Amino acid sequence: MTVIYPDFVKELYEFGVETALECFNCGNCTAICPLEYDLFPRRVIRYIQLGLKDRILENPDELWRCLHCGLCTQTCPRQANPGELILGLRRYVVAKWRGK
Ligand code: SF4
Ligand code: SF4
Repeated sequence: MTVIYPDFVKELYEFGVETALECFNCGNCTAICPLEYDLFPRRVIRYIQLGLKDRILENPDELWRCLHCGLCTQTCPRQANPGELILGLRRYVVAKWRGK
């Protein structure tokens, strides 16, 4: 069963993920991302917007694929900072692993 967490966006603020709602899902970030991996990072940002926390926690390894090259952030027309969002999600996942 898919559980939706409406406050997930706010939960991420303390990890530096504050621009997810700016994303309008244009896909530029995915098009330029050198990983060419499963609609990354747009798909992950969409998970944040929809409150699909479990989708991220079930597959955290993909966050560590990111090279932090910054190309997605440079290309984003909405200043959603997708590369920074991925880094913030890493901080969130690490905090969860540590039981915080
Ligand atoms: S920063 Fe990460 S998500 Fe963004 S384009 Fe580079 S590898 Fe892809
Ligand atoms: S480029 Fe920006 S607005 Fe477009 S999908 Fe990626 S994060 Fe969202």
